[in-house]
Amino acid sequence: MSFAPLLLEIKNLHVHYAVYGGRLKVLDGVDFHMRTGEKVGLVGETGCGKTTMMKAILRVLPMPPAQIPQGEIYFNGRDIRKMSGNDLQRVRGRGISMIFQDPTAALNPVFSVGEQLGAVIQYSAERGKALSHQEIHQRAIAALQEVALADPERLLRSYPSQLSGGMRQRVCIGMALATHPQLLIADEPGTSLDVTIQDQVLRLLRTLVAEKDTSVILITHSLGIVREMTDRVYVMYAGDIVEVAVTPNLFANPLHPYTQGLISTVPRLTGGGIASGIPGRIPNYLTPPTGCRFHPRCPHVMDICRAEKPPAYRVDDDHEVACFLYRTENRV
Ligand code: SF4
Repeated sequence: MSFAPLLLEIKNLHVHYAVYGGRLKVLDGVDFHMRTGEKVGLVGETGCGKTTMMKAILRVLPMPPAQIPQGEIYFNGRDIRKMSGNDLQRVRGRGISMIFQDPTAALNPVFSVGEQLGAVIQYSAERGKALSHQEIHQRAIAALQEVALADPERLLRSYPSQLSGGMRQRVCIGMALATHPQLLIADEPGTSLDVTIQDQVLRLLRTLVAEKDTSVILITHSLGIVREMTDRVYVMYAGDIVEVAVTPNLFANPLHPYTQGLISTVPRLTGGGIASGIPGRIPNYLTPPTGCRFHPRCPHVMDICRAEKPPAYRVDDDHEVACFLYRTENRV
């Protein structure tokens, strides 16, 4: 168990989207925390609310249609939701950086790499401190060298359309780390790249965050990457955190039926037949299932699961699961 200071703490976070026909209840009371220096994985199916949660942290959700009816988000002990513009700028500048899923969409096609990187470096500078052109240029060169991009002078003059997908992803990583953030949020980095380039990008990311001891939230579908890169894992299903554990425990002893299904879908080199998967699909957020949102897909569903939302049960110091199977009376 780590005793480093709490870096990020989310309490009972709800996010809804107002849409034609009602409200999409995308986050349903999420609790999350991480300590300085931790590498935390966040896994779950597409559409389960992972990216919404990260955008809420950075306060970049489109409001409206997004609404946050309840919830607190503390970064270094201060509630991000109550921060003023200057404090928020500091958090986004040197506090938290994010690498988005699609590097093509993350970069603006009409500005050169140098203009975009320079703007990030200036934004993250000490409040009110204007950096010289030369200083920005030197820092931009260093940022590109750090992500192993050759000929950085030429790259600074290039436009995103002149770079390959792998180079764009490296530029995005360089940009995110150029601000020396305390916390890096990596949202499925490299998902849009082919697997060999994705592997190179992830290895580079792992090396850089280890060298700088940056705290990381890694969002991914790949359980293999999570297993390699993280200390602790949160499993999310349909807007709820359903299980959290230190990484080796989660893989050795997954408790929630959803986590068990997720892990069973990982192909094994040793064979073992066809992956069983999880029948059904993620629910409609306009009319989510009552009680446990996983109950329509759960092989162990009980009457109480349809009526009540399961709380998080602590099964040991580093392992919690939100499932009625782990009520004290159900444990053997
Ligand atoms: Fe299944 Fe019930 Fe546990 Fe939900 S609370 S995962 S429905 S057993």
